[in-house]
Amino acid sequence: MPELSHPHRVGVVGGGIAGLTAAYRLARLGYAVTLWERSDEYGGLAAAFDVPGGKLEKFYHHLFMSDRAIVALAHEIGCGDRLRWLPSQNSYYSAGQIYSLASPIDLLRLPVVPLLDRLRIGFVTLYLQHVPSRGDRWREFERITAWEWLSKWLGTHAFEKTFGAQLRAKFGPRAKEIAMVWFWNKIYLRTQSRPGLFAKELLGYFDGSFSVLVDSLVQAGRDNGVDFRPGVGITHIAALDQDNAITITTDHGPERVDAVVVTTPTPLLARMMPELPADYLDKLRSTVYQGAACLLLRLDRPLTGTYWLNIADADLPFTVVVEHTNFIDAAEYDGNHYVYVNTYVDVNHRYLSMQPAELVDEYLSYLPQLNPEFERGWVRESWVFRTPAAQPIIGLNYSDRRPEHRTPVDAVYLASMSQIYPEDRGTNYAVSLGEHVAGLVDEDFQKQR
Ligand SMILES: Cc1cc2nc3c(=O)[nH]c(=O)nc-3n(C[C@H](O)[C@H](O)[C@H](O)COP(=O)(O)OP(=O)(O)OC[C@H]3O[C@@H](n4cnc5c(N)ncnc54)[C@H](O)[C@@H]3O)c2cc1C
Repeated sequence: MPELSHPHRVGVVGGGIAGLTAAYRLARLGYAVTLWERSDEYGGLAAAFDVPGGKLEKFYHHLFMSDRAIVALAHEIGCGDRLRWLPSQNSYYSAGQIYSLASPIDLLRLPVVPLLDRLRIGFVTLYLQHVPSRGDRWREFERITAWEWLSKWLGTHAFEKTFGAQLRAKFGPRAKEIAMVWFWNKIYLRTQSRPGLFAKELLGYFDGSFSVLVDSLVQAGRDNGVDFRPGVGITHIAALDQDNAITITTDHGPERVDAVVVTTPTPLLARMMPELPADYLDKLRSTVYQGAACLLLRLDRPLTGTYWLNIADADLPFTVVVEHTNFIDAAEYDGNHYVYVNTYVDVNHRYLSMQPAELVDEYLSYLPQLNPEFERGWVRESWVFRTPAAQPIIGLNYSDRRPEHRTPVDAVYLASMSQIYPEDRGTNYAVSLGEHVAGLVDEDFQKQR
């Protein structure tokens, strides 16, 4: 690690995976890093909490085999041996039935669409899996919506019954705005997770939850001198003054740094720095997010026989059911069965503001459709977790509207989930983002020397 005689002070706003990674990398490079996290805990959207029998994420999490940056980081900070790669069972719910979707063979067996349409789905999926992420071929997908491209190539019936229903379920009234690039990348990544075309998918999970990674990152940061300030939110960031310092207004008073990396959802930077130039502010403010309304249930028995259940039925109020203990054995949680029930919604949707008990009631009333035997007596405990910024909406030609990491104000950097593109957001890309922006900060300081 290079020793700086007078280390530059770098502030990091946000202690999610991107912020923790950036702080650790910058500290390794010799900077004096302070990290402020508004909440009392680290991990952001990937944070975990204590449940009977162990720890679990507030929102379900796993890794794909294509997630190389996070795996490399886990090994570097000493928790790589806690990663397990396990087969997963994916299924699809439509009109009262659960269909397995573990491999392309299952897709060909799906009875909700006629055989010819199933073959079309198979060919289209195969084609998308082979459009590489390197090079420019995928760029044609920036200019067309997933709705248009998929209904053209699948036919309206097959599209509506399958991917169309999923797009509508995930993006609601905005489903028709989503660029094909988003959809292509999802398919592409799922292929990368498979050891072979007809092989079952392997997914990664930290033995003991993603808190293993989060705690190791905090420890690695501390070992390298990061000054962590949990429970402290940032309200304002002022541009460099005549002493070349940035004043950061925290809930606990002002602090001075030489550079700052902001890792919060994009519109929050606009609030913290309304003095940014108007065109950059426009980019920040025009980023639209979907919220998530997630219920975690502790049951006394399994709900379904599958890990990941996509709900293609618009009558149900949720779009995915993730039965964690069909991925990691319930025996590892003292026999408790854990099931997430989630939907992505518009930020103004009532699910994000209604009383938690009402949301529980609403979701539970639909579970008998997935398992007719389900009764409320199976539920030992439940938790509701919600966020207004769960998933950015990636519309057409997003590369023209994506805010730059180097903001127009010197020494102020942005490393936000909505800048991940063309890949979809995820913990792996939060790691790459944190590392990339730490590299930009270092490059800019090196130029000044
Ligand atoms: C339902 C759901 C399921 C998911 N499933 C997966 C999955 O299976 N696999 C996967 O890899 N990823 C998954 N993700 C995505 C993954 O969680 C995120 O991509 C990743 O955690 C984002 O990390 P981040 O650091 O960029 O942002 P965040 O986690 O949003 O971190 C930002 C941090 O900034 C803090 N902050 C905000 N404002 C301030 C302020 N003013 N001052 C100080 N601090 C502030 C916040 O408290 C937060 O801790 C899922 C997300 C959701 C919502």
